Amino acid sequence: MLDEPALMEAQQAIHEMIAHHAPLEETLEAITLWVGRLLPDALVSVMRYAPERSSLSMMPNSQFSTNYVQRLQDLYIAEGTGTCGAAAFWRQLTITEDILTDTRWESFRDAARREGLRACWSMPILSGGRLLGTFATYYRRPTVPDPASQAALKRAASLAALAIIRDRDAFSHRALSEWHDSLFANHPDGVYEFDLQGRFQRGNAALSRITGYAEDMLVGRHFNEFIEPGYRTLTQAGFDIAQHGGSLQYETMGIHHDGYTYHLEILNFPVSVDGEIVGVYGICRDITEQKRAAESQRLLERGIQTSPNGVLMIDVTQPDMPLVYANDSFYRLTGYRPDEVLGRNCSFLHGDDTDAGAVTAIHHAIAERRSAEVTLLNYRKDGSSFWNQLSLSPVLNEQGDCTHYIGTQQDITRQRNQEAQLAYQATHDLLTGLPNRTAFEGRLEEAFQRSQQTGDGLVVMLVDLDGFKTINDGLGYRIGHQLLEAVADRLRQVIGQHDIPARLTGDEFSLLLTSLASRQAGIDMAERILNTLSAPFQIEGKPLHISASIGIASDREPTEHAHELMQRADLAMTDAKQQGRNTWHWYQGNVQRITQESVLLRHDLYTALQHDQFELYYQPIVEAVNGRIRGLEALIRWHHPEKGMISPGTFISLAEQTGQIIPLGYWILRRACQDVAAIQTAGGPVVPVAVNISSLQFRREGFLEDVQQILAASGLPPALLELEVTESVLLDGAEQAIALINRLRAMGVRVALDDFGTGFSSLSYLRDLPIHKVKLDRAFIQDIITNRSNAAIVQGIITMAHHLGLMVVAEGIENREQQQDLIHRDCDLLQGFLFGKPLPREAAMKLPGQLSASRDA
Ligand code: C2E
Ligand code: CA
Ligand code: CA
Repeated sequence: MLDEPALMEAQQAIHEMIAHHAPLEETLEAITLWVGRLLPDALVSVMRYAPERSSLSMMPNSQFSTNYVQRLQDLYIAEGTGTCGAAAFWRQLTITEDILTDTRWESFRDAARREGLRACWSMPILSGGRLLGTFATYYRRPTVPDPASQAALKRAASLAALAIIRDRDAFSHRALSEWHDSLFANHPDGVYEFDLQGRFQRGNAALSRITGYAEDMLVGRHFNEFIEPGYRTLTQAGFDIAQHGGSLQYETMGIHHDGYTYHLEILNFPVSVDGEIVGVYGICRDITEQKRAAESQRLLERGIQTSPNGVLMIDVTQPDMPLVYANDSFYRLTGYRPDEVLGRNCSFLHGDDTDAGAVTAIHHAIAERRSAEVTLLNYRKDGSSFWNQLSLSPVLNEQGDCTHYIGTQQDITRQRNQEAQLAYQATHDLLTGLPNRTAFEGRLEEAFQRSQQTGDGLVVMLVDLDGFKTINDGLGYRIGHQLLEAVADRLRQVIGQHDIPARLTGDEFSLLLTSLASRQAGIDMAERILNTLSAPFQIEGKPLHISASIGIASDREPTEHAHELMQRADLAMTDAKQQGRNTWHWYQGNVQRITQESVLLRHDLYTALQHDQFELYYQPIVEAVNGRIRGLEALIRWHHPEKGMISPGTFISLAEQTGQIIPLGYWILRRACQDVAAIQTAGGPVVPVAVNISSLQFRREGFLEDVQQILAASGLPPALLELEVTESVLLDGAEQAIALINRLRAMGVRVALDDFGTGFSSLSYLRDLPIHKVKLDRAFIQDIITNRSNAAIVQGIITMAHHLGLMVVAEGIENREQQQDLIHRDCDLLQGFLFGKPLPREAAMKLPGQLSASRDA
């Protein structure tokens, strides 16, 4: 009944379908039909196993209704789930003779009855112990299979297993190759295959992009055609390793389709099938850009690392702004090790002498995210210092925020020192280390401008050594030089901190003194200098003595240019030399130069009164014709403890300048009144005493009262007191002087006009002033015999005075001729060495007495 050859042919067809990957549904349908022909009254069903759900589902089939197929979807595999469930559960052929009675069919019995099914035989489809589904035959009557049916069922199940397995394999194979293909195609790197000879088999789009060649231009060609000749051996070696089962990543150089070379990074590894190497895979990437970036990064790093300047980086996002990087030079320069400074604030470089201003400038620049350049003193780890020229610039991150500062530092100590040395040499005298003339003049100019503005005043002193040439010539330059150095040292020590000493030339030094509060301070300084130089110098074991002459000038004198001060100091210095050296002179314009001498006296005047160093001498004033004493002039004498007798010509004007004349004048007047009273008591001449009164004293308030008080105290009759004043009493105004003289006159005290004919004498004074006597200055008398014009003036004055009822005294009569001449001219009284020199009181007492006051009294 069975057409065996046809069945064999059908079975063959099924095998072919499986072999050729026919769709699974079609293959299973063919198996179903084939079984249908083997078992003509059977309905064939295939259920597929879903491992993830552990369930069976019936595959659609033309022999069953859709309803039935639907009812048999997703059945849980268990003993009681129909014949197929049990077959799958037990993994063995399962037979239901009658569905109506089989308990396993309980849940599906209605569906089976509607479909008209009574018997079901099911065979599990297994492959290597794995469940793939079930293959079942249904019958419309209760029945059990005969051995031939069972065999057909088994064969069909194994054919179905084969079809399902092949289908599943084909699917996963397809999926795998699709995965592989998309990996290959979409890989961003160039991916390609070689045969064992190194010829391209295929390549992806990225490879074309990298090499510039389309895939078809590459295929069949050897890789080294695309490699720079110098790199071919290397590239071949990489290929060979892969060809022998290894894998290697290496860099080489490709030649682009457009002709240029580029850097390639290549990975080669073998393609093996069944343990046999059949080709080589390559993955490549163009690393030209990366290389270039790396190279420039490397160059940059290397450049920074080996820079001769210190480079450092600080993190300004941290509150302490720590150092995060420093190069070798930084460590070499500062002497620190990285572990000692990284993470710390750079203030470890600062020290006591670091300019706080520069540090603040850095902080401000960083706060404002600005660049900065400063030069500041830094300290190494060993404590030594160096000048650091530091440039700082902000470093911005990708968002444009400043996160770091990069600094470059340069040790400019040597440069600084050189500059300093050059500047030093240009401005200093190399022997003594003092500023030279150029520097001094510069400083003087500045100080002068400042002084003009502030009015503080400055003093220039020129210190010229006395007799230095002798030392130099006699003892040699070496000794001379040492002496100059020693002098410079002493000058440095004696002047103020802000004063400037300089060596101008040879043995000439200058000093710019800006801290002298007064003229006296300047004088004191000059004295100190002379004093300090007066101590012997020990040069090569020999004591050397030297003095100096100092010229002083100050801008308190009207000064237009700084250099005038130098000229004046020079003039004053020449004066000091002429004075006999070892002294100083203060330039005083054209008027008067204060000398060391005068200042000393001035000083001594203060104590002279207390120490009773003054004495009054008395010089007789005689009647011209007979020489009888008609008066005494009191003349002051100063017995200086060191200098001996000092002439009033010298110190009276000083006393006037200092104001000392007031107490001194008071003392003179009192002493003169006392003395003359005493002389009279002792039997000396009873004649008026003439006391010289300085016009300062005369014009001073209270003078009249002083006179009254002194007369009263001494008991001297006012008529015996005469005051000698000069024309300068008129300086404050004639009225006042006239009024005072009138009041004195009213008291009985007379006033004589002294030194008449000198100064601004005017004959009208004789008329206006209520005086009673005029004294002709010695200057007219001296040459009265020979100088006819002087003689004429004297004659005129005598005539005029007599006309006004005044007495005339001629001073300085030293010989008979002068006396005769003046008698001849009708002069009343004479005074001079011819009649008597000024004498001490005791000697004056012994002068021939005169009982009555003179007729003119
Ligand atoms: P004087 O008032 O004209 O005094 C006369 C000066 O001539 C005195 O000098 C006297 O010693 C000097 N003399 C007198 N006869 C001769 C002579 O024959 N030949 C020469 N060569 N000289 C003669 P002395 O004492 O040195 O005084 C100088 C000046 O000092 C005085 O000039 C007077 O201006 C002032 N002086 C002296 N004593 C006093 C004083 O007690 N008070 C004040 N305020 N001034 C005084
Ligand atoms: Ca006088
Ligand atoms: Ca006089």
